[in-house]
Amino acid sequence: MVTQFRIDIHAHLRPDDAAPSKMPTPEELLLMYEKAGIRRGILLPFISLKSKPGVLTAENARALSERYPDRFFWFTTLDLEENWSREKMMGFLESEKKAGAKGVGEITSKFRFDSPQVEMLFSCCEELDLPMLFHLAADFEDAYGVVDDAGLPQMERMLQRHPRARFVGHAVPFWSEISVLESPEDRKRRIKEKVTEGRLAEIMRQNPNLYCDLSAGSGSNAMMRDREYTVKFLNEFSDRILFGCDITSPTVTFPFQLIAFLDQLLEEDEISEELWERIFFRNAMALFGISEKDLCLEEGSDHV
Ligand SMILES: [Zn+2]
Repeated sequence: MVTQFRIDIHAHLRPDDAAPSKMPTPEELLLMYEKAGIRRGILLPFISLKSKPGVLTAENARALSERYPDRFFWFTTLDLEENWSREKMMGFLESEKKAGAKGVGEITSKFRFDSPQVEMLFSCCEELDLPMLFHLAADFEDAYGVVDDAGLPQMERMLQRHPRARFVGHAVPFWSEISVLESPEDRKRRIKEKVTEGRLAEIMRQNPNLYCDLSAGSGSNAMMRDREYTVKFLNEFSDRILFGCDITSPTVTFPFQLIAFLDQLLEEDEISEELWERIFFRNAMALFGISEKDLCLEEGSDHV
């Protein structure tokens, strides 16, 4: 029987001290989790959006995960715009890891993917074995995110130069590459057409340190646009695909649609129970070093 357990690897919240915004409070998010059968969330702070009200900082994320220890894990993050030396960055990340951070992100800074600051982060995270999650941007006109060109050549070079650095790809310009791009505009929209295998599968095959975040409209759309291709993709990269939501308002519906879609693939034997479990929680456990004990799985309390 499948363990009906889900980890949302991409969660944001509105901290207590923040001005009202549509971002969910912890209580609102947990209510959505209850409806969706999600048992744990990983809180991802933002940095480049810190001037906006209601934005989660690394300190908030840590405090909230300590307040809800059976509900939330947390990532740390940092501002690439600060004047970092490698030594200073290593010191900061090492102490955050000791304090319990499971990874670094969501990095939303407007930098080119091949800039020295991004490379320093890759190098430090490689040494400290801390996974990274970035919001990718198509160009500097996007509101935020680390910018790469069509085909993601800068990301690929970084993965090759830092083969032990584990990177989780996210957002529209990442998922657009699941198919061959028809026009530059494809990097900015959620395409509904069938998939003709694109750069993403090629980069995944050559770089075992690349992981995929299914969160947000970008991830769920990429999964649901071509069921036949999705089944192949999930089976081939079964140990590197991670369920996530990226809920930014209590009214969003895409995580529920994605869950229903993946559950249906299981019901119709398109994916195995083992693969279902990997996508929903086992890959996250392996990547972020979450033990069964951390999840209280061995007590059976979360089995349905
Ligand atoms: Zn996000």
